[in-house]
Amino acid sequence: MTQNQKKISAQPWHAHATNEVLEHFKSDPRGLTQEEAAHRLEAYGRNRLKPAQRRGPFKRFLMQFHNVLIYVLLAAAAVTAMLGHLVDTGVILGVVLVNSVIGFIQEGKAERALDAIRKMLSPHAVVRREGQTHEIPAEEVVPGDIVLLVSGDKVPADLRLFEVRTLKVDEAVLTGESEPVEKHVNPVEEEAGIGDRLSMAYSGTLVTYGQAAGVVIATGEATEIGRISAMIAKVEEISTPLTRKMGKFAHWLTGAILVFATLTFTFGIYLRDYTAADMFLAAVSLAVAAIPEGLPAIMTITLAIGVQRMAGRHAIIRRLPAVETLGSVTVICSDKTGTLTRNEMTVQNVVCGDRQFSVTGVGYAPHGDFLLADAETGPDQHGDLIELARAGLLCNDARLRHNQDVWELEGDPTEGALITLALKARLDPASEQETRPRTDVIPFESEHRFMATLHHDHDGHVFAYVKGAPERVLLMCGKERHNGRDRELNREHWESLINHLASQGERVLAIATKCFDNDKHALQFGDVEDNLTLLGLVGIIDPPRDEAIVAVETCREAGIRVKMITGDHLITARAIGKQLGIGDGIKAVEGKDIESLDDASLRKLVAEVDVFARSSPEHKLRLVEALQANDEVVAMTGDGVNDAPALKRADVGVAMGVKGTEAAKEAAEMVLADDNFASIERAIEEGRTVYDNLKKSITFLLPINGGESGALIAAIIMGATLPITPVQILWVNMVSSVALALALAFEPTEPNVMRRAPRPVSEPILSGFLIWRIALVSTLFLIGIFGMFELALMRGAALEEARTIAVNTLVSMEVFYLFSVRYLRAPSFTMTGIKGTKPVLMAVATVLVLQLMFTYAPFMEVFFGTRPLAVMQGIEIVLAGVALLVILESEKWLRGLLGFTAESSPARPR
Ligand code: ADP
Ligand code: MG
Repeated sequence: MTQNQKKISAQPWHAHATNEVLEHFKSDPRGLTQEEAAHRLEAYGRNRLKPAQRRGPFKRFLMQFHNVLIYVLLAAAAVTAMLGHLVDTGVILGVVLVNSVIGFIQEGKAERALDAIRKMLSPHAVVRREGQTHEIPAEEVVPGDIVLLVSGDKVPADLRLFEVRTLKVDEAVLTGESEPVEKHVNPVEEEAGIGDRLSMAYSGTLVTYGQAAGVVIATGEATEIGRISAMIAKVEEISTPLTRKMGKFAHWLTGAILVFATLTFTFGIYLRDYTAADMFLAAVSLAVAAIPEGLPAIMTITLAIGVQRMAGRHAIIRRLPAVETLGSVTVICSDKTGTLTRNEMTVQNVVCGDRQFSVTGVGYAPHGDFLLADAETGPDQHGDLIELARAGLLCNDARLRHNQDVWELEGDPTEGALITLALKARLDPASEQETRPRTDVIPFESEHRFMATLHHDHDGHVFAYVKGAPERVLLMCGKERHNGRDRELNREHWESLINHLASQGERVLAIATKCFDNDKHALQFGDVEDNLTLLGLVGIIDPPRDEAIVAVETCREAGIRVKMITGDHLITARAIGKQLGIGDGIKAVEGKDIESLDDASLRKLVAEVDVFARSSPEHKLRLVEALQANDEVVAMTGDGVNDAPALKRADVGVAMGVKGTEAAKEAAEMVLADDNFASIERAIEEGRTVYDNLKKSITFLLPINGGESGALIAAIIMGATLPITPVQILWVNMVSSVALALALAFEPTEPNVMRRAPRPVSEPILSGFLIWRIALVSTLFLIGIFGMFELALMRGAALEEARTIAVNTLVSMEVFYLFSVRYLRAPSFTMTGIKGTKPVLMAVATVLVLQLMFTYAPFMEVFFGTRPLAVMQGIEIVLAGVALLVILESEKWLRGLLGFTAESSPARPR
């Protein structure tokens, strides 16, 4: 905490009047100037908390040694030293050190990658400076800044509120109280505890309802949350259910192996005539051979790389286990507007009075004309049209900016479309706002589906404009405007018009007005509930995203059902759904239908219907629950604060990165950087890939351990010489195998990955198929190692030479096995399969160099007891690898022929 931060936080600002606070911070409701803000940023420092306490590098390095295997090795080093095998001692210690250094570096890389991804989610704040609102990174908020809050925001700093519209704040992070607190602007007692300081909004809390403005009284570590350091959050482990399961498995395996090694030791001494020293080394070899020590590190790296790849494809993972869950998703429930559609709204039809206009032009640029029965018409000839356009312009919080020919929208696209409409009708926003200033507003919320504003003009007229979902607004109307006069509302007529526009996939809005007495200054819900005059309807198009159409189709092939949940009109939703390939264009239900169903009927319904219209966040929650009750694994999108419960409940909650609130992001497992449905589909693809790659590493490493230990056990049982020495096994496991397995973390997506059914959550990682694979490959390794070793001895090779052959055979088989494992189901003998990938080729080249060194370098001879081999022997070693690949490929081919599908059942049509 800087000195400055300390000083400002000391005062009980909650007990002061707002003007005193503003004065103290040399601010006013128009905000600071940009220069002053920059100056204060310099003086007070950035508005952020110290990152969670990480383990320091030294501790992290030491942690690399905290591993049963390393303990075993250190014990072995001690015993070999006592026995006088100092070279062995040196090698063991060297390998332990090298392994720890590699683990240390890789782990650091993984952590950094995840940190970088977390940074992509840094929050923003809306501040007022020089009278203009700006969205800035929350880190740049300074004391004295005017911060504007709306529902869904995370409060960026400690604020003294001076303007409040029914603001409710969830302060659970600070007070533990889960019920949102309603705030006001009046000073409270100086002694009030944090939870009772109703005139304040504190950094880190969530706005659940309403709007407010406040002046920043503390930033960064000077804030209440900074002081209680609640944010010294737990460092998230890099793990998922699968890696944790594997971790447990490895633990268990290690224990079993140690017991087994001890038994072997006893067996060798008493039943075979090995010396205790020899047998000790053999038992150590066995332990080293059998424990898959490289596996945890490889899995961590695979996860980190997967998360990085997803981020590159606009899906930011907030909680790591989601990476795995993504691969199991069976249903995606998606918002429509902006996720499946482009959210570039254009008014295409306007109905007012007896006339139906079509409007030309696309996008927000106000270039276009009004057509009446296909003939161009001047908007100023139609008073009703002008009044409707004006209402749309003034009952509006969006802003259009233009830079030469580029028109940019700030705010809600639906409202942007109405501004463009007004501009096409040749209204001037600035002068309209000046002559009819707004005095109050009921903001739009998905729950009530309309927005209303109150205006006072210079002639003393007071009136409200209302716009919203047409059936909702129609209920509030009693009259309709016709040639400047009000007449009785023809409800049926309008209803059929609404259906007509909606059936073309248009988003329909009704616009209405109402006059009041001139002493009216505040607008309540009750004021606009009835007696409105309908000004007309607008039909807005919002075309589907092309990539969403493709993604929906891909999901279908992948056995994932896509459901659309929207606040839009039933008929609109159905029409858009049809364009996207969601639903059958017939079946669709509304939120109110969901309400009337009990849980059992809802479960039946969700199995059949894919389009849900006029639904609000509570319906989303019930839909998730019903789907989960049907054993579906659900990904659910959301953006508003009220979506948070559904996002939390879903197996994978997906928040929108652009238009999503902080509340939604905090509740989600994943955030879409581009709000695009297609990014969910890609994330699922990556999720399946990561899982495949984790599985490939397991399938790669376990049989190598199995083969090695098998060869040793066979030797011991037969009382024969060990084909590979302990230090040689260490070399293979901790150097060659790890280098090769690392390549699997970078494996690209298999081409058929989105044509398989989702992986059942209950699927065990060691499926029957994998167990069979591991057993088969272990046996082949055993035969290879032992066979080549015995063959060499039979041909009269010296023991060292035969062992060098055995080790190289093992590594050669690993290299070829790597190519086989890259495609667990598809053939590996394909052009792409043989060409490999850059990481694969790099790994193979590295291992080749290492093995040549191992075999021919004189110093290696000292450490590992190797001998140089002849070219012919080298060729035989490579052939052993080739043989392994051929056998495994034949097995894959036979499986296919016999109709064993492994577990990769093709996607069932849904
Ligand atoms: P979604 O985002 O799922 O399409 P919303 O909940 O945003 O649905 O909108 C529901 C309905 O409310 C829309 O069909 C439209 O009629 C109306 N509506 C949407 N935005 C606004 C707004 N800014 N002002 C008034 N009415 C709106
Ligand atoms: Mg919306």
